[in-house]
Amino acid sequence: MTGLSDSFQRPINYLRISVTDRCNLRCVYCMPDRGITMISHHDVLTYEEIATVAHAAVELGINKLRLTGGEPLVRLGLTDLVRMLVGIKGVDDISLTTNGTLLSRYAAGLQGAGLKRVNISLDTLREDRFRRITGGAAELGDVLAGIEAARSAGLEPVKLNMVVMSGINDDEVVDFAAKTIDEEWHVRFIEIMPVGGISPPQSHPIPIAEMRKRLEPLGELQPCPPDAGSGPAKYFRFPNAKGTVGFITPVSEHFCLRCNRMRLTADGKLRPCLLADDEIDLRGPLRGGVSLAELKELIAAAVAAKPLRHGLMEGHSPHDRPMSQVGG
Ligand code: SAM
Repeated sequence: MTGLSDSFQRPINYLRISVTDRCNLRCVYCMPDRGITMISHHDVLTYEEIATVAHAAVELGINKLRLTGGEPLVRLGLTDLVRMLVGIKGVDDISLTTNGTLLSRYAAGLQGAGLKRVNISLDTLREDRFRRITGGAAELGDVLAGIEAARSAGLEPVKLNMVVMSGINDDEVVDFAAKTIDEEWHVRFIEIMPVGGISPPQSHPIPIAEMRKRLEPLGELQPCPPDAGSGPAKYFRFPNAKGTVGFITPVSEHFCLRCNRMRLTADGKLRPCLLADDEIDLRGPLRGGVSLAELKELIAAAVAAKPLRHGLMEGHSPHDRPMSQVGG
């Protein structure tokens, strides 16, 4: 096998980069009840350091990068980072995961810099609920404007991530799915994960079978082939619909055996598994003058340490970090 693979022969070609732990929202499923300690600015990787890690990872075989956070668009100059990463030979795809609230300001510039696609988090279509779920720091209209701006800028397909929480927003799955019929909405229903000390708001995952049952009145969902950047979602389409409906089930039907990703935290730790606390420090070596060859060795060692699967079903959930530092 060519390229990078882990000790279970899974090809690893995807690096998710958290560029900041700061966020302008306080989503109930993301920020822990105990509050969070912010990473000090000095400990957050500079754009040059991120680009150095990306360069080393790409030389090893990574060809897809995604910027995430925290909220990546609250960090100044993200467009400059995109430009730096696009310039690395071997990078085929750069995408962004964002809450969309600031996107209308930046979408065109990001596209111009070389960003290909965006995933936008949107958990409700109701204004009052949006304020409750996100902590009230932005408006639903900002996100809807961000979606339109992304489309106009050609950052397509725009995928919309909805974390489904029973008793909080699960009554909206039909509304979201209905949007995919007349508009090019690519909605992904994500199962909530118990990460970083959140107590999921009284939420037990809703089985896909049950969600599909709720969607039956809209028509028969037909499976559709995954596109190039589709990752772990299972996609469906209503007859003649413009958009798609996806299901992402990290807990009830985990997809670890197909996992192709590594994560770089905002403070420069390489994390082999979202749902396990183990990390390999790159910031210390980076600031200690590590060579590119040595950095590649550290990354290869982190890839080799990737566990076969997470242990959520056995009751092992990660505690050390909130999602905002790891990047989801
Ligand atoms: N601020 C950006 C955003 O809102 O998309 C990027 C960071 S956010 C941590 C990345 C993704 O993680 C989002 O799609 C969010 O819905 C998802 N996420 C956060 N906490 C989660 C949880 N407990 N369970 C499932 N998904 C979660």
